[in-house]
Amino acid sequence: MNAQSLLINSLYENYDSYKEKSITDKRITNADIVKYFTDKKSSENFSFEVAGKSLEGKPIYLVKVGRGATKILAWSQMHGDEPTATMALLDLFNFFTADDHFNDFRNSLFDSLSIYFIPMLNPDGAEKFERRNFASIDLNRDALRLQFPESKILKAVRDSVQPEFGFNLHDQDTRYTSGHSFKNAAISFLAPPFNYARDINDVRKKTMQLIAVINETLQNYIPGHTGRYSDEFEPRAFGDNFVKWGTSSVLIESGGWKDDEDKQYLRKLNFVALLSAFNSIMNKTYEEKSIEEYSAIPENEKYLFDLLLRNVEYKINGVNYTVDIGIKTEEIPADKGFYLKGTIDDFGDLSTYFGFEEIDCSGLTLAPPEIIEKEIYSEKDLQEINFSELLAKGITGIRTENFESEKSFVKFPINIIANEKFSYKIKTDGNADFLLKKGDDLKYAIVNGQIYDVNINFNKIKNGLILK
Ligand SMILES: [Zn+2]
Repeated sequence: MNAQSLLINSLYENYDSYKEKSITDKRITNADIVKYFTDKKSSENFSFEVAGKSLEGKPIYLVKVGRGATKILAWSQMHGDEPTATMALLDLFNFFTADDHFNDFRNSLFDSLSIYFIPMLNPDGAEKFERRNFASIDLNRDALRLQFPESKILKAVRDSVQPEFGFNLHDQDTRYTSGHSFKNAAISFLAPPFNYARDINDVRKKTMQLIAVINETLQNYIPGHTGRYSDEFEPRAFGDNFVKWGTSSVLIESGGWKDDEDKQYLRKLNFVALLSAFNSIMNKTYEEKSIEEYSAIPENEKYLFDLLLRNVEYKINGVNYTVDIGIKTEEIPADKGFYLKGTIDDFGDLSTYFGFEEIDCSGLTLAPPEIIEKEIYSEKDLQEINFSELLAKGITGIRTENFESEKSFVKFPINIIANEKFSYKIKTDGNADFLLKKGDDLKYAIVNGQIYDVNINFNKIKNGLILK
């Protein structure tokens, strides 16, 4: 390892000292940010102010780090449900205000760079964990009209700072893959074009070179898990316009990581990725990188399911067919939180696809689940039920007429069926509820796309649905 990589690796190893402890899950809100800055003090090389207010009146902060000649602007969470980088920015602020064995590195950054940050550009969207702003506008399509306060703030900061480099920080679909591979794209990049011809001028070239640096850093931690977006020009998007306005603007998209629903590992990778980029800008090492190194990053593809059941036997009219079942699980916002909804995303020959979790079901037969009739009235009644016993019998639904709930889910491993005509069907976009049997013996019960393993009494089902 050279000196640069040793430094970055040391930052990776010491990350926990800077991780903002008040933030432990991805559903952060503006109140968390306000509290963070209430407790924070300005200093010579770290200052902050409220740059303006969102449509709903929430404060949007602008942070300035350092006093150097090279100007950088990084903004996060323009889309309210894309919070990974916001968490990492708070960690970065802790790093910049610490006093420890990284002081030399910090001081050289402060001397050469002035880094501006807008953490959580869309606080109204973040409040509901939704993409769009309070007026249901996608702010990343408001760079031309600049009508909404959040977009105006970003443009005004850009115009006053005139940054040479920009970092446009988002989250992407967790199921993107790095090219056609089983490796998911944990972090993806784009050096946005500034015209339909996708020309490469000096501004865009520098963006590509910087991405090559960040990608090289990340290969040490997530080899093969990075992707690159195709570069269609989007005239209404901020990234594309930043390049047009003269800022080398890197798009970084955080995807998924197995068993990291709250994106805490990707948060750490954002921290490391940004510091390695700042370090490279300071030392101008990105100048050694080529456009080819950028182009060699595999394109984002979509070859992943959350759960892929391979080689399931499916009997129709006495004839056996072999099918694979690809299940997607989505987080649906509800009750200031969320519930999980599992759907059969695809069905058939999925041998060219992969799953975050995969099970080879050779020798297992697909069977419909059982539904029982039971008088239950509320979630309280469900507390009395022994679910292991029900699931082991292949029962995944309770039919009842009198269940009272405004919600669409129950926090139990069973579906509540409130419609007398409802029956389970195996079909794409349908509910992912079925059984897998070896002969007459039940092996797995799948409820709402999640698994109960009968043999070892292992339940991964976090919630059922109320099917109306
Ligand atoms: Zn986004």
